[in-house]
Order: sequence, then structure tokens, then C-alpha cells
Amino acid sequence: MSETSYVFQSVVAKKPAHVLGGKGCRITVRKDGKVYEDVIDAVTGAAVGALGWGDEDVGKYMAEVLPTHTYTFPAVIGNQHSEDLAKFYIEHSPKGAFASALWCCSGSEANENALKITKQYWLEKGKPKKNKFISRDTSYHGFSLGALSISENARADDFTDILIDQKQCVKMPVCFPYRYQKEGQSEEEYTQYLLDALEKLIIDNDPETVASVIVETLPGSSLGTVPPPKGYLPGIRKLCDKYDVLLHLDEVMCGTGRSNPNGGLNCWENYLEPGQFPDIQTVGKTLGSGYVTIAGVLVGPKIKEAYENGSGTVVGSHTYSSHGFNCGVALRIQQKIMREGLTKNIFEKGNLMGKKLTEAFADKHNIVGDVRGIGGFWTVEFVKDKKTKEVFDKKLDVGHKIQDVFFEKGLNVMGMQGCVSNRSGLGDFVLLAPSFVITEADVDEIVKRFVEGVEEYEQILKDGKHW
Ligand code: PMP
Repeated sequence: MSETSYVFQSVVAKKPAHVLGGKGCRITVRKDGKVYEDVIDAVTGAAVGALGWGDEDVGKYMAEVLPTHTYTFPAVIGNQHSEDLAKFYIEHSPKGAFASALWCCSGSEANENALKITKQYWLEKGKPKKNKFISRDTSYHGFSLGALSISENARADDFTDILIDQKQCVKMPVCFPYRYQKEGQSEEEYTQYLLDALEKLIIDNDPETVASVIVETLPGSSLGTVPPPKGYLPGIRKLCDKYDVLLHLDEVMCGTGRSNPNGGLNCWENYLEPGQFPDIQTVGKTLGSGYVTIAGVLVGPKIKEAYENGSGTVVGSHTYSSHGFNCGVALRIQQKIMREGLTKNIFEKGNLMGKKLTEAFADKHNIVGDVRGIGGFWTVEFVKDKKTKEVFDKKLDVGHKIQDVFFEKGLNVMGMQGCVSNRSGLGDFVLLAPSFVITEADVDEIVKRFVEGVEEYEQILKDGKHW
């Protein structure tokens, strides 16, 4: 029997569960009247928690920031905390990448602002016709209407009449080697196919009308984590330069330390060539680590300069933009993460977790089709048949069902059914994105509980006891 819930989210999800507390990587949850202790939080909500739960320093940071926080409307009077956080992000990114930051409250809001900043940039540059956004045909950038317009999400099909005109939101093929790299096609050939498709789209749409290309560096909600092939992002960067188009990387889920190879912040440092940067980047989630609600848009020097020398119209001031308290607390959280080398820790331990899961499912467990990811962000995709990669019947709702099995084993992961944008029969998967404080013992426990969960679910399928 489910508890009654009055919160819309739980009403929609139809299965209320409430978190009672947490410490480090473990949480306590009440579900259907039963209390589950010592659940390993292997996904930190939605890849949010960088610091472990119940970090006592955060309370001290809040107490330190509060007396220096007085709310002012940021377009009239700014605050030092938002300046300090912007400086921190810029200084902890490769030199020359970013010059300015806008802080807001959610990833969707960040992408809304990024679209408007992009449009404003082209107005400042005297190119008002640039008003098309090219994103990927399976992508997720948020559930607000602008962000949804550049996403591709089958569940939003009935909403297209209230989105940005879809003629302006052009979709390029998604990059997903596990399903779409053809047999006999090399990684280079597949990459070239994707880049050629993008170039053709830019040309067919008239480069003079294309404003930006938008890509999740490492997708999460749309496909599960798909590390891009080597030349893919560098190739997109080059095409953007060739046709005078902005490159917008969405790192809301994968960024801010979750998957950085150098102990830094940005996921693209794994993939872009030295000296290549995005022009505009959205971030969120781990920035406030679930303690404060904060997300942001980072822009490179040329965008900052265009605004400084331009009309000054900023279509992006919300009441809580650059919120001083949120920025001050997020900064201290990020400083602690850097001081304690936690971005290095999650990159190393996350890769270890991925390696152990890959090994555990290498040639057994027919329902595990693919294990993919990098650093602290991983996906396990489930299929009916490992060899043919045939997906499960949608009605079985495998992603969500297996999530429940894992939960009973004391493992919190996020299950997805057929990917958010189930256009072409993509598989069910679960996401793993643990806290940056994860230890090797936690990795072993996650892998153990995960393997047990898969075994149990396989047995349920075999016994025909699926519910
Ligand atoms: N962009 C990406 C890549 C995301 O994964 C998400 C959330 N999962 C968003 C944007 C939207 O962020 P929010 O839920 O904070 O609005």
C-alpha cells in the first residue's frame, strides 16, 4: 500500500518514497511505511551530490555566508558571492575558456538563458537572422519549454504546439556507437558520418541562420552516458568555427567535477583538443551538490566582449539570478572539493566502478547489453538479448522495475525506460553517479549489490514472475 502524498512530483510518480537522512554515500529512506537504512546512494539523486550527504562543513558554510547575504536584484546591485563563484569557475577551467558566468537555479533555466544569450550575441554581432539551434535527435536539456524545444523527448510530442517553432530547432543524428555504429564501420568512419551529417544540416539550413550547435558532452537522461568517439567533439568545434556558429555544451549533468581527468571541473577536457573550448556552457547539479539550488551559464571571452561593447540588453535577469547565499555556499563546497582532491577521487573510483561492472558482466548475464561511461558517470543498459541487442518490451518497464529490485538490495540508482526520447526502440538503462567521497570499499559494495540485483531480476524473468 502506498502512502498518500500531497506533493505533485510524488503524485505523478505514483510511488512516494521519502528520504529521512544521509551520511557520506548512505541514505535512509521510508518507502510504503518501511524504513530502509544504509542504502548506498549510487546516483546521488540525479547525479547531483558531489560532497557526501550530511557534510557538517556545509552547515558552517551556510552560517558563514548568511550574515553577509542581503538580497538585491542582480541587474541593479550585484553581490560579491556571485563574483567570487564566477572567478573560481573561470580560474579552475583551462586558461581562456571562460570569461563570465550567469548563475541561476536549475539546469533548465540555465539552458533557457543560454539560448537567449546566444540570440543576443548574434544581435550584438549584427547578425539578427541567426536564430536556429541545432541539437541532437535524442537529447535532454530540461523540461521548461525552451529547453524542451531543443531536446528530443517522445513524451513531449503532444506539446510541440507550445514549443519554439520546430523549424528553428533542427535535429542532427545523435552519437551512440553501441546502437548506431554499423557493423564493419570503424570509429573514425562513424565519427565522419556524424560530422558530415552536421555539416550538411548547417549548409542546408543556411549557415547565416544557424545560431548554435548544442550537445551534452556526456549525455545522461537521454541515452545514458555515451562517451563520444575521439574526433567527434573536436570535429564539431571545427565545423562551428568554419560556419561561424556558437558551440554550446550542456554539462548540467556530467560537468562540475563529475568526470574531469585533470582534477578540474569540465567534462569536455576529456575530449576537446588543447586550445579548443565551447563558446557557451551550461552547468548545474554538482555545483551546489544538492545543498543549495544553483546552476549556471559560462561564456567565453568573445561573448563577454560582445555584451560589454553591445546594447546592454540582457534578456536574462531573474529575481534569483546570481543569488548571493546560493553562490557563497556553492563556492565553499567547490573549494572543499578541490582542497580534498575529490574530483580526482571520483574520476579514479568512478572508473574503477565502471571497470568492475564491465568485468562482472563481460560474458555472463544476458540482460546486460552495455556498460559505458567515464569518471563518476556510468550507465548499464539492459536488453532482451546481449548478442542481438534486442530491447525489452516497453510494457515490462524494465528500467523502473530493476531500479526497484536494486533498491530492495540497498542500492539507489536511477532507472530509465527505453531512454527519455524513445524514438527508435532504445534500451532500458540505469544511471550510476555516486558522490565524489566514494571509497574503494563503497565501489565494491555497489558492484556486489548491483550484480546481486541483476541476478535476481534475471531469475524473475526466467520464472515468468514479472509484475
Ligand atoms: N541538461 C541536462 C544535460 C540534464 O541532464 C538536465 C537534468 N537531468 C537538465 C539539463 C535540466 O536540469 P534541471 O533538472 O536542473 O532543470
